[in-house]
Amino acid sequence: VGPFPSGAPAIFIDQIGRLGTPAAIISRVGDDDFGRLNLDRLIADGVDVSGIEVARGEATGSAFVRYRPDGSRAFVYNIAHSATGNLTLTPDAEALMESCDHMHVMGTALSAPGLSQVAREAVARITARGGTLSFDPNLRPEILDTPGLPEALDEVLAQTNLFLPSGEEIYLFTEADDEAAAVKELLDRGVGDIVIKRGNQGASHFNRAGRTDVAPLSTDEVDPTGAGDCFGGAFVSFWLAGASPETALRFANAAGANAVTKVGPMEGAATRDELDALLGQSEG
Ligand code: ATP
Ligand code: MG
Repeated sequence: VGPFPSGAPAIFIDQIGRLGTPAAIISRVGDDDFGRLNLDRLIADGVDVSGIEVARGEATGSAFVRYRPDGSRAFVYNIAHSATGNLTLTPDAEALMESCDHMHVMGTALSAPGLSQVAREAVARITARGGTLSFDPNLRPEILDTPGLPEALDEVLAQTNLFLPSGEEIYLFTEADDEAAAVKELLDRGVGDIVIKRGNQGASHFNRAGRTDVAPLSTDEVDPTGAGDCFGGAFVSFWLAGASPETALRFANAAGANAVTKVGPMEGAATRDELDALLGQSEG
């Protein structure tokens, strides 16, 4: 089935746009239908696409996801040698780096050397201006052998205010071998907020003040891809608006639950009204 507008950073920013938080994305697409599919959706959902360069004659990056009978997934990525893989610093991208006061990095954006360089440049510039940084490692096994990836991940984590790993991913960044110790290690290293995504088991938030858990909403899961990105987009929207961690977690949990009810990774990005309705139902 498909094609669908997609890409972890695009899903994330689309969810932010749907919630009405001002948002922009730096990327590069080909002048083909896959590129137009993504541009059209992001524009429709209010995302500033001025930082997306359209590369004549190049192919838009794509990904294929395969669902195995045991529920696990495998991905084929055509990113490194696509228009996105050839991302360079453009004047439009630089203008965004001068105007944004928060940045979100997806680990997948560190999966090709050129991409990684632009992402790290944006991190350096935005944090130097006092901007905050959120980071979802989103590390699929398929990208773990990217040259320079460990250094790039460490560099980004060192600047991260809000860290959003899924399940076991936290152990890729810590020496600890249990979750509480891993969380403590990261808080000690200066990460202010940590949110662990647990799929159909809900999610948890940690900061210096303690721990908050949220139970999963009951949903009919038809397609789990994109849940983490919608969850992250919703969490960051509320976090930037100054909501408490409990409130941000509750809305993000609802955004993740909504995402899995639709086929297609970005199709389940929710509006505020949809999240209110979901939460109203679950809280009776
Ligand atoms: P992806 O990278 O594929 O988008 P992820 O591993 O980053 O996924 P998940 O943990 O799968 O993210 O999902 C994010 C959040 O969405 C979960 O922490 C949970 O709050 C919510 N969620 C995901 N799946 C379900 C489900 N089946 N039922 C209810 N809530 C869910
Ligand atoms: Mg994820």
